[in-house]
Amino acid sequence: MAYDTSTRIAIIGGGCWGLSTAYHLERAGYFDITVFDQSSELPSSQSAANDLDKISRAQYADEFYTDLGLEAIAEWKKGDWAPYFHQTGHLILLSGSGTNAQGMFECAASYARANPSPIPHAVELNGPEEIRQYCWQLTGNLTDFRGYLNRSEGYTRSADAVKGISAKLAKRGVRFVLGPSKGRVQNLVYAGDGQRCTGVRTHDGTTHSFELVVCALGAYGATLVPKLGQFCMARCWPVAHVQLTAEECAVLQGLPVVGAIDLGIFFEPDPETRLLRITALGAGYCSDLPGTKLARTALPPLASGDAGQDKALSGYYIPAADEARMRRLLDQTLPWLAGRPFVRKQMCWSSDTVDSELCIDFVPNTDRSLVVLSGNSGHELKMMSILGKWVRELLESGRQKHARWAWRNGKPVHLNKLYLNGDWSGGVS
Ligand SMILES: Cc1cc2nc3c(=O)[nH]c(=O)nc-3n(C[C@H](O)[C@H](O)[C@H](O)COP(=O)(O)OP(=O)(O)OC[C@H]3O[C@@H](n4cnc5c(N)ncnc54)[C@H](O)[C@@H]3O)c2cc1C
Repeated sequence: MAYDTSTRIAIIGGGCWGLSTAYHLERAGYFDITVFDQSSELPSSQSAANDLDKISRAQYADEFYTDLGLEAIAEWKKGDWAPYFHQTGHLILLSGSGTNAQGMFECAASYARANPSPIPHAVELNGPEEIRQYCWQLTGNLTDFRGYLNRSEGYTRSADAVKGISAKLAKRGVRFVLGPSKGRVQNLVYAGDGQRCTGVRTHDGTTHSFELVVCALGAYGATLVPKLGQFCMARCWPVAHVQLTAEECAVLQGLPVVGAIDLGIFFEPDPETRLLRITALGAGYCSDLPGTKLARTALPPLASGDAGQDKALSGYYIPAADEARMRRLLDQTLPWLAGRPFVRKQMCWSSDTVDSELCIDFVPNTDRSLVVLSGNSGHELKMMSILGKWVRELLESGRQKHARWAWRNGKPVHLNKLYLNGDWSGGVS
């Protein structure tokens, strides 16, 4: 099936992939686009993008992603995207105790070597005093810390981007069908013995017909496309916040993203809420233990779709070991915050693949009527500014030209096993 700008398109999921797809298709002239989301307002509480900040970086072990990261950052500086990007710099640190994050640190090191002076995007910083020359706010001991400051990177105000871009799209004629009844898709509708996807059925019982359906459900992909569970799993990481006073918030303005890759990450605080967002780094968690059925690890445990219920169940808890690492990070960097209670704690879910690569492809044997966007591996908010272009290219060429992003055939893989040895630093993300 060939597509043109009049194709009736459904995008399920108003998170960062769904919206980026709608954005780039609308800009390219497609005028019949409907976005479904189970939440009554965007960002959804189920969206990994429902967060204050996400890192925008280009430092990857793989040049393919470095180039895409640079392209995405360049796009974030333009037009509709610009209000959400903050080029504060990105300080990548390794603490004295960091061993299993060595792979990621090497990635920062090689980026610094490849981008030397006279345009010093990345500066090597050895020890506390050198770090403080650039980040004076880090008054902690920084015992045995070393790192790189990359000044071309920074962060994106994630929830604000979802809110702002969805509002712009609505003004430009993209339809939004939202809410746990009208907007939550219960199942996909097929014709011809499942050979062609012809639409979606929402929870209120309505069937909507479309020529093309794009599933961008984040961690929930396997609810509507169960075969995704053969190579994607849902994984989560803890997110928490520290409440600051107006003065404290002002002191920390201009701070680069601080990512001690064996401990955690925190960001320049948000002046409006005065919240400093912090997360612990590591292999993350999945919804079941090794040895149990694949299908269970494909999804978060709380896939009820009732946003209110899921929020109540998933909020206010993060594992103690992660909380301890976040406290150690604050103690070493901003010690005056180390004892302060964490607020707005939550586990944030996204979808991952065995090789950390994305999946942007037609589902096999659906006559190119169904596309899935998945496997975003905890690192795709930064690509929101450009990734809809890749979906457009897929539709217009009829095939995924990057083998690494193609639908994975073959034997199902139990992803849990990959992370059991505790070394999580080797993948793309
Ligand atoms: C803890 C954590 C930290 C991260 N940090 C970074 C970072 O620093 N930098 C970075 O670039 N990326 C980061 N990411 C990754 C980034 O958040 C994700 O790659 C991105 O949000 C994925 O977008 P998505 O559109 O696929 O999914 P989501 O943003 O999760 O959106 C999925 C949408 O689908 C909707 N939905 C689900 N089921 C249905 C249904 N049946 N019917 C209708 N709607 C439905 C949901 O309501 C939701 O709105 C992080 C992720 C996590 C978990």
